[in-house]
Amino acid sequence: MTSRSSVRYGVFAATAALCLTTFAGNGALASVGAGAHPTDAKFTPGGPGLGDPYFPHEGNGGYDVSHYGIALTYLPDDHHLGGTVTITATATQNLSRFNLDLRNYKVSSVKVDGVDAPFIRHDHELSITPKSGLPDGKKFTVAVKYAGTPHTVLHSPIVFGAPYGWIYTSDGAFVGCEPNAASTWFPSNDHPSDKASFTFDITVPQGTKVISNGDLTGQSSGGGMSTFQWTERQPMATYLATIDIGKWKFHETTTKGGIPEFVGVDPNLDDQAQATGIIGLTGDITDYWAKTFGKYAFTSTGAIIDDVPSIGFSLETQTRPLYGFVPGAGTASHELAHEWFGDSVSVATWDNIWLNEGFATFGSWLWSEHAGSSTTYGIAQQIYNSIPEGDPFWDQSIADPQRNTMFSGAVYNRGGMTLASLRHKIGDQDFFKLMRTWVAQHRLGNANTKQFTDLASSISGQNLDKFFQTWLWDKTKPPSI
Ligand SMILES: [Zn+2]
Repeated sequence: MTSRSSVRYGVFAATAALCLTTFAGNGALASVGAGAHPTDAKFTPGGPGLGDPYFPHEGNGGYDVSHYGIALTYLPDDHHLGGTVTITATATQNLSRFNLDLRNYKVSSVKVDGVDAPFIRHDHELSITPKSGLPDGKKFTVAVKYAGTPHTVLHSPIVFGAPYGWIYTSDGAFVGCEPNAASTWFPSNDHPSDKASFTFDITVPQGTKVISNGDLTGQSSGGGMSTFQWTERQPMATYLATIDIGKWKFHETTTKGGIPEFVGVDPNLDDQAQATGIIGLTGDITDYWAKTFGKYAFTSTGAIIDDVPSIGFSLETQTRPLYGFVPGAGTASHELAHEWFGDSVSVATWDNIWLNEGFATFGSWLWSEHAGSSTTYGIAQQIYNSIPEGDPFWDQSIADPQRNTMFSGAVYNRGGMTLASLRHKIGDQDFFKLMRTWVAQHRLGNANTKQFTDLASSISGQNLDKFFQTWLWDKTKPPSI
C-alpha cells in the first residue's frame, strides 16, 4: 500500500497509546448454543477471532479455508450486491460451531455441506451451527447467500485516515481492503494467515466490466447482463482480493520475461496510460523483481488503473495492483515489489507490517538505483540526515508500530532505511542472497520479523542483534547509518 502523496515521513510518526481489548477466547458468543452439540464436550465452538495483536477479532478459529467461490451480482445504479459465496474449508478441531466475518448485508441462508444451518449475527461475526459437528480434519463447504448495500469503511485512522474497503466510483466500484475490510463484500476468514485460492463469477449490467485477481477464465452475456469469471489459483490473503467494476479498457500482453500481463484502464485515462508507458513499465518492473528477488509466484501481472484521484491509497492486490490514477515508476515499483513482500510472503500477524511496507519502500529505491538515479544507500542517507534526533518520526518501534499507526511514514521509510543500511553492512552478495532465500523459504506462505532477523544473521555470519534492536525496536534515532 502507498499513500496518495509520495513521502510522508513525520506525518504519522507519533505512536498513540492504544488500548486494545484483550482477546477473550470465545467471548459472549460461546454461551449462545443454538444448535447441535452445545453439551458435547468433544465438539466445541471455533473462536470468533485469531487473536491477532492488532485485530484480535478478525479471522476465526477452528478451520482452515482452501477455496472461496464468489458468485455475486452487482448493480451499480442501485448499489446492490448479492449472491452466494461458497467456502471450502477443513476443520482444525472438533467443531460444534464456527464463525465467518461479514459486515452488514441480509443473510438469507447458510448451508453446510448442502444442509441448512442455523446462524446468528453479532457485529461483523456470522456464527454458524452445522447440523452435525464437524470432526477435526473434515473437509466441508459452507455456502452463504446474502444481499445488500456494501458499506465503505469510513473515519478509521488506519489507512492514512482514508476510506477503504468497498469504495463507490462514478461507474462502479474500487475495492481495496487492507487490512481488515474483505468483510465489506464477502464472508471470509479475514486474516492473512489463512490464504486460499479464489474463483470470482461477477455479474454486472452489460456494458460494464469486472477486473479481478489472477486470470480471466470466462466471459458471457445474456439478458442485459454480463458475467466475468476470474480465477486466482495461488493462495491469496483475503485483503488482497478485489473486484473492480467499471467501463474498463483491457490490455493483454506478455512481459519481455514471458509473464502474462493484464491491465485494466479507466477509458478516461487510457491516453495518459499509453503516453506514460505504464503497461510496458509494469512488465519491466515485474521482470526485474523476478531477476532480483526470485521467481514470480503468480500466473500473471498487470495493473488496475481507475480514475478516482480522490482515493487516498494504492494497493498491491494480488497479481495486479490497484491504483486510482496512472502511477509513476515510484508507486508501481513499490506495489509490484509487494507481490513478493506481502502477497507471496505474507505477514503472520499484522504487527509484522514492516516486512511488507519497509521492503516495498526499499524496492522503490532499488528501482530508482536500477534506473540510474540515487542508490538505496544514498536515498536512505538523505532521509536519515533530513530528520533530526528528537523528531517524532524516530519515536516508533517499526517492529511493533501499533494498530492505528501501522501505516505510518516510519514503517515505510525507517523500514526501507533498515534494509539499505543492512545491505551496506553485510554487502551485496549476502544481502541479495538473504532476500532471495527469504522469498523462497516463505513462498506463498507467512512469516514474521524474528524469522527474517535470524536468517540475516545466519546468511551473513554476523551477530546482527544490536543492529536490528537499534533499527527495528528502539524508539530513538539510530546513532549512524
Ligand atoms: Zn505498500
